[in-house]
Parts: sequence; structure tokens; C-alpha cells
Amino acid sequence: MSICLEVKNIRKEYNQKVALDRISLSIEKGKIFGLLGPNGAGKTTFIRIINQITAPDTGSIQFNGMDFKREHITRIGYLPEERGLYKNMKVGEQCLYLARLKGLSKTEAKQQIHYWFQRLEMLDWLPKKVEELSKGMAQKVQFISTIIHQPELIIFDEPFSGFDPINSEIIKQEVLRLKEQGTTIILSTHRMESVEELCDDIALINAGQCVLYGQVTQIKEKYKKDIYKIEYRGTLKTPEGFNVLENDNNIALIKATQKQSSNQLLSKLIKQVDVVSFKEKLPSINDIFIQSVSNE
Ligand code: ADP
Repeated sequence: MSICLEVKNIRKEYNQKVALDRISLSIEKGKIFGLLGPNGAGKTTFIRIINQITAPDTGSIQFNGMDFKREHITRIGYLPEERGLYKNMKVGEQCLYLARLKGLSKTEAKQQIHYWFQRLEMLDWLPKKVEELSKGMAQKVQFISTIIHQPELIIFDEPFSGFDPINSEIIKQEVLRLKEQGTTIILSTHRMESVEELCDDIALINAGQCVLYGQVTQIKEKYKKDIYKIEYRGTLKTPEGFNVLENDNNIALIKATQKQSSNQLLSKLIKQVDVVSFKEKLPSINDIFIQSVSNE
């Protein structure tokens, strides 16, 4: 396991108001890390610290095992939620300007712009003015500008907002492809279905504190409530040691009242009904998010 970003004990106050407190987490190379939390939790502050827009009051950050320095910033890509492009500039010129700012030579920048605009079937847009673009189109241009210098770490803040479902899917596939190529990704979003689909690990921040952190699969295991979803034929009676939470159209949700294995439930069920399907119901990240935030 190799770590891209290691954050230790970060704290940040604004005018004596604590925005982040004792945040420690590691982001593994080549993984998609979900940064979650309700509004005002401290996510933007965290992202601004990683982007070196602001500095933490205390704590340390390591990037690829080295102390985090100014020069590392060109190896990071950032797609902010509030996106600004220069309205009067042509799309191609704008991308060239942004790519040059990220350290690409003119030739490299032009090659990359051509590659990405062709890949996303947008070559016709290059001579257009930014003000002619729809919101979704402008967002795609901004997406390209974020990744054009092939950063090792990319931070996407609500990358799917403003996209229709087709373009959302295109961007999602591009995010997955970046991951396959070894890029590390921080994804900050309120869309829990994107988290379920994309993230390997998550941190849930609430009121400046990290209240939940780890692998999505392990978190789900930890929060599971021994509920099973069964599809069956016949007449179902409540098996001993279990509660039937729902039972409709021959699909039931059954919960163990004390620690019992899935095999114990199955062996009881097959004596009374034909089991068509049997699956443990794991909690959604959305359920876990709501539970963790309301427990605080
Ligand atoms: P999120 O991105 O999760 O919505 P933020 O990081 O923007 O949360 O904000 C965390 C807390 O810090 C909030 O209480 C917010 O009001 C406060 N905050 C953020 N930026 C500033 C700032 N520049 N000045 C004062 N307070 C701020």
C-alpha cells in the first residue's frame, strides 16, 4: 500500500471558529477517496488546505512521503464547485492558458487539448467563446482543464452537478479511467449514489471533526444490522430468533433478534418455504451518513 497524501492532526480556525479539528487521514495512491459531510462541515476548508490556498494552523501533510511544499501544487488538479472561466475568451485559448499555468509547454498543451477535446467529442467547441457554452459544456471544458496536466492527485468538488445523466456517465467513466491509470482522486460530493459507485475509501466530516473514516466495504460491514432480504414461494412464518420487518409480494426483510448466522436463518426458512433468493442487506452510505451525523 502506497500513500499519496498523509494528513496528520490538522486544525484550522477562522476568527476563533474551529473549521477543522484533529483531522488525520491517509489517502492511498490510485484510489478514489470520498470526502463527505453536511454543509459547513469543513470539506472546503480541507480541500483549500490540500490546494495550498490556505494553510492549517497546526498539523502536518506529506505528499508521496515528502513534506508538502509549494512545488507539489503542479502535481495536483482541482475542479472547484464554483467554476469560473473567462467568458470572452475562446475555449481553445482558455484551455491553452490554463494548461500553460499548470506548467505544460505550448506544444504539450496543444497536444493534450486536442487529445481531450477529440476524446470527449468536443473539437468543434475549440473556436467558440466560453459565453456561448451551456452550463454542462462549460463544465466539461473545466473538467478537461483540471486533468490536462496529468496530475497525480485530482480533487473533484461536486463534479457531476449541472450535468445531464448522459454527460454525468461520461465524466464518471473518465474518473474511473483516471483511477485505472493510477491517479489518486478525492471526490467531494453530496450524491451518495456516486460514492457507492466510485469510492474505495471515505472520510465523513461533521462540525470540523472526522466522524467516520475507512474502506467503504468495511464501514458497511461495521454498520450492518443483520438484516436479510429473502424472496420465497409459499407461506412464511416468523422463524424463531428473527423478526420479519417487511413482507410483501413474497419478498421479506428479516432481522436477527440475537446474534445468529445467515446459515441458521436459511436452515429455518428452507423448512417452511422455497427460497428463491437470499441476500444480506447492507446499509447504504446514505443511511450511514445520516446515522453518523445525527448521532453527533
Ligand atoms: P463545507 O465545505 O463542508 O460546507 P467549509 O469548509 O466551507 O464547509 O466551512 C467550515 C466552517 O468554517 C463553516 O462553519 C464556515 O462558516 C467556516 N468558514 C469557512 N471559510 C471561512 C472563512 N473564510 N472565514 C470564516 N469562516 C469560514
